[in-house]
Amino acid sequence: MSRHQYDLIQCMKQTGPSTGLVCQQCDGRCPICDSYVKSTTRVRICGECSFGHLVKKCIICGNGFEEGVPSYYCLECVTLEKDREGCPRIINVGSSRSDMMFSKKKAEKSS
Ligand SMILES: [Zn+2]
Ligand SMILES: [Zn+2]
Ligand SMILES: [Zn+2]
Repeated sequence: MSRHQYDLIQCMKQTGPSTGLVCQQCDGRCPICDSYVKSTTRVRICGECSFGHLVKKCIICGNGFEEGVPSYYCLECVTLEKDREGCPRIINVGSSRSDMMFSKKKAEKSS
């Protein structure tokens, strides 16, 4: 299973008090390294990602859900302090083709 995409982007904004929720499929999966073992620290997400329609979307795969499951970082990522780097929500998964073109254009402009 190779889910890793080169264009995967994480939010990385400063985290707030909200817990990152995942769908049933991603239950137990570390949002940083995809590990399913040694879940250690509860994931916190930023204010933007815990607001509006994003609340009912998996922070890892972007799937919508009725009831999310709290997400946890694995022991390895906590040891490497990746849990402190910021909001781990993946922000470019499940976006439409036009969205992708838009973000590309934006990137070109800002560079
Ligand atoms: Zn991990
Ligand atoms: Zn965020
Ligand atoms: Zn998911």
